[in-house]
Order: sequence, then C-alpha cells, then structure tokens
Amino acid sequence: MAGKPRILRSIEKASREEIEKLQLQRLRETVKRAYEKVPFYHRRLKEAGITPDSIRSLEDVRKIPFTMKDDLRRNYPYDLFAVPLSEVVEIHASSGTTGKPTVVGYTWRDIENWAEIMARSFAAAGVTREDIVYVALGYHWFTGGLGFHYGAQKLGALAVPAGTGFTQRHVMMIRDLGATVLGAVPNYALRLAEVAVEMGVDPVKDTRLRTGIFGAEMWSEELRKRINKVWDMESFDIYGMSELYGPGTAIECHHHDGLHVWEDHYLVEIVDPKTGEPVEAEEEGVLVVTPLTHDAMPLLRYWTNDLTFLYDSEKCDCGRTMRRIGRIKGRADDMLIINGVNVFPSAVEEIILGEPMVNHHYQIVVEREGNLDRMYVYVEAARKLSEREREELAARLQYRLHEALMINPRVRIVEPGELPRAEGGKAKRVIDKRKL
Ligand SMILES: [Zn+2]
Repeated sequence: MAGKPRILRSIEKASREEIEKLQLQRLRETVKRAYEKVPFYHRRLKEAGITPDSIRSLEDVRKIPFTMKDDLRRNYPYDLFAVPLSEVVEIHASSGTTGKPTVVGYTWRDIENWAEIMARSFAAAGVTREDIVYVALGYHWFTGGLGFHYGAQKLGALAVPAGTGFTQRHVMMIRDLGATVLGAVPNYALRLAEVAVEMGVDPVKDTRLRTGIFGAEMWSEELRKRINKVWDMESFDIYGMSELYGPGTAIECHHHDGLHVWEDHYLVEIVDPKTGEPVEAEEEGVLVVTPLTHDAMPLLRYWTNDLTFLYDSEKCDCGRTMRRIGRIKGRADDMLIINGVNVFPSAVEEIILGEPMVNHHYQIVVEREGNLDRMYVYVEAARKLSEREREELAARLQYRLHEALMINPRVRIVEPGELPRAEGGKAKRVIDKRKL
C-alpha cells in the first residue's frame, strides 16, 4: 500500500529557512491583530510588557503568556473574536466536561484554511478525488464531521455526511456506496467491524474501505494493529482540537513515524508541564500551539494539555520538511495517580490489547478502598471462555500490568458483549470514582 507516488505541494517541501520566515511574518501579524482587536489579549500582552514590536524572532514567542482553556471559558461566548460577528460564518463548541463549553468562531477565510489543511492531510494519507470518504463523525458542535467533510470536498473526493449512531445503517451504506475511506474515532472503526460481522458482512471482502483516518481520542499502536487487520486497512492518526479549527493540525504520512505539523499554519512548542519552559527535541512535554492564520479568533500559545514530543530530525522519507510530533500519549489530566504511581490509560490499553484472547472493549475503574486506591480493569474476552481460562487470562494480564506499570490492578474478564458500547462518540474508558 505504501510507496504510491504522491505529489507534494511546494510548501510541504519548503526549506527550514522558508518555513521559519513565513512563520515569523505570520506570527507578527497574529500578535498585532490579537493586540489591536481582542481586549483580552491587549490586556494580557500589556501586563507582560509586550507590544507587537517585541516579536522579532520566533523565539520571542516565549515572552507571550500561555492561553489556557479557562481563558476561553472566561471569554465565553464571543469575547475572543477579533472580527465583528457579521464576519463570522460558523461556530463550534467543545464539550465542556465542567461548566460552560468553549466556543470557537470561523470566518469564511478560516473555513477555507481549514478545508486546505484537511485536504492536505487527506492527500498525505493517499486519498484522491477518486475516493469516497465516509465521515462517521459528529456533524454538530463537534468539529470532526465538518472538518473531514470540507477537506474531502476541497480535495475533490466524494464526502458522505454519515454522522454518528445507527451503526447497522453505516455498515450497509459503507458496503452499498463502495466507500473507500473511513473517518471516525478509532474505537468506532472497531465497533463498525464488530457490527458488520454480526450482520454477516465481511469487512474485508464485502466493503472497499482501505484507508482509515482516525483521531479525537487516544489510541495505542495495538488498537491500530487491530483496526488495520479487521478492515485490511492502512490507518492514519490525525491530530487537532476544536480550539485549532478541529482536525487537521497534523497527520501521519505513509511512514507512520510521527505526525507532520502543518507549520505554515501552526507554530508548535513543547514545554515542561510544570515550569512552562521549552524542553529539548525528543523530550516529552505539553504541546503549545500558536495558530498563524486563524482569522476570527487568534490564539497565542494555546496550552493544549496534550503530551507529546517534537522529533529531532526535520527530514522524513516522504519528502515533507514539516516537523513531526509524536503520537499523543494522553492529555496531561488523563493521567491517573494510583497509590502514588503515575499511570496513563494508553499504557494500560497497549498491554491489554497485546493479548489476542481479548477483544477491544475494556474499562478501567478506580476506587478508593480505605486508604488505598484500587484499580479494576474489566476486559471482554474475544470469545466465550471457561472459568479456568478466564482466571488464567486475568492472572496473565495482571502480571503484565504489574511488570510494566508497577501497579496492582484487579483484572476481571467478562463475556463478549458485556461492556457498554459507544455508538460513534468517544469511548468511555476510565471511570474514576474517587472524583465522583
Ligand atoms: Zn513523512
């Protein structure tokens, strides 16, 4: 599948000097617009002793204070807009887990930028105008559906606005329409395959899906292997978030070794989560992004809370020169602290899904028992098992989790079909009862 020749746009092959020159010019424009048009930023920058003229090099971005998600909430709904509402043509809102959501606005120019970076992302995954892109993502407040939709159309492909829910209907339409590309959250790609099999539809023989573009939730390499296998598909990790238009900030190329950031639109930094100071290349930290072309709502140094690293090398065998970030390990606040040990749910997933006797449905429940945290991991068996098989499997997983993560969870193997299914949205993997 890999190795098909692909034509890169000249910007994708630009030299470091060209990219940085463009970034600096756009950064200065962005800071100037934020300073002049958004009262919040005017105050913020003034307090930090910064004027637009303070930005003379890309490193000068570090003088600017971070913008946190809370800043968006505090300016709900429109106070971060740099243009009059009459110029805004679309809004999206992120699901606020607590309190108000965060609202993001788009001018027509923003929609064009977004379509462009999504089209470029599709092209990086080998999608062409011959493709039929089945978009099984929400088309409402969530940015996934429309982002994929605009990008597929911009590329000239056929976009199918399928949305979420109605899984059996999706299976039928994927088959009947001859869809070749699937856009979804990764766990839903597996759910679709599961339902297809229940319906007597063979995901490989009866459908033409061969490319998957997945994002919006953390997914491990083990989950990817399962998706690729069950659909006979090549799947690509795409990155983005509603504050950054939506999907399309970065995507993998065919080498699947990190995600290329579209650096003509985004300036990225990796900083220490505690000090906010820049870390070295290849060192893990929080991704901080300054969009360079956002029109309606400029953001300066947006603290994504996502943990990743920047690749040291700028060269990739695909020919792109734009720098790569590692796959997102999780949000900084996804990390569980179990009796003082830091555990990422992604690390638990990697171990569980490495076991062929389980399917991809699992749930982590953390409780407080007396003075101790207790972690339960419920895992669905891939088929009906005898009690003895279940016990052996649980013991094996418990041992591996302990060995790799230094935690002592209780693993419970449940019957296939027993855990709740997410029909299209993100899977609820972790229930932390200590926080309820
Ligand atoms: Zn590449």
